[in-house]
Amino acid sequence: MLKGKVALVTGASRGIGAEIAVEMARNGAAIALNYYRDEENAFITQKRIIEEGADCKIYECDVSDFAKSSQMAIDAQKDYGRIDILVNNAGIARDNPVLRISEQDYDDVLDVNLKGAFNMIKHLYPSFMKNRSGAIINIASVCGLRGWEWQSTYAASKGGLIALTKSIAKELGGRGVTCNAIAPGLIETDMTAKLKGGQRERLVASIPMKRPGQAGDVSKLAAFLASSGASYITGEVIKVDGGLCI
Ligand code: NAP
Repeated sequence: MLKGKVALVTGASRGIGAEIAVEMARNGAAIALNYYRDEENAFITQKRIIEEGADCKIYECDVSDFAKSSQMAIDAQKDYGRIDILVNNAGIARDNPVLRISEQDYDDVLDVNLKGAFNMIKHLYPSFMKNRSGAIINIASVCGLRGWEWQSTYAASKGGLIALTKSIAKELGGRGVTCNAIAPGLIETDMTAKLKGGQRERLVASIPMKRPGQAGDVSKLAAFLASSGASYITGEVIKVDGGLCI
């Protein structure tokens, strides 16, 4: 499905990003794997990708840093010759009621989740324009569609990411480049393992499918959106939430 393609996946050391990288490798893509702090897991994911028979190079970079993310885009293009698929997955959450959110927390969440995705799109934009093909997949959240108590900064960043997705879809559609967002609900990863005070149980009870999702539920959709089968789908926000937001 993705044979001969090169995918750059941000935040792919663990969780949803790691599963997306492995799934795309399983479908034949070479993987430029970005991580920030978790080198150990980045190497574990790289090993899984190589076991799938795909090439994988690792790039350490904070995607919220404009200059460093530009260098990563240059390095990956130098190493692979081209990038066909960009997955903006890197993300953080700092859940709290507004009164307890610091200015630093606000800046950090917006910088990684929204500016990080913008940085990567901007740095690879000339290449997508030149190639006249490509797929950009942004990992948003149902929070960005519905808003969520205690998640105002996170929801704002993901709502912004959805608006960015639609704008880029309009801007690059004529060049044969698609841009879509995936909006996961509750997916079992390190991020949701931090939920406190019965939050997780209450959330699961409100999901029609009565269970949380797995990273693999998101990765299969990402691989499809990157494939030629999805070449006429753009500007969409697709929920993977077990019915949570019906
Ligand atoms: P996770 O397990 O906490 O993993 C987050 C990943 O993002 C890690 O690989 C981490 O890399 C990377 N990252 C964080 N800050 C970064 C930075 N500044 N630069 C580059 N990479 C950075 O989270 P997850 O649950 O897999 O979430 C992945 C994405 O899905 C996020 O965008 C999240 O908002 C979204 N999402 C998740 C859920 C859910 O229920 N889990 C629901 C909706 C949306 P290092 O560890 O190497 O630093």
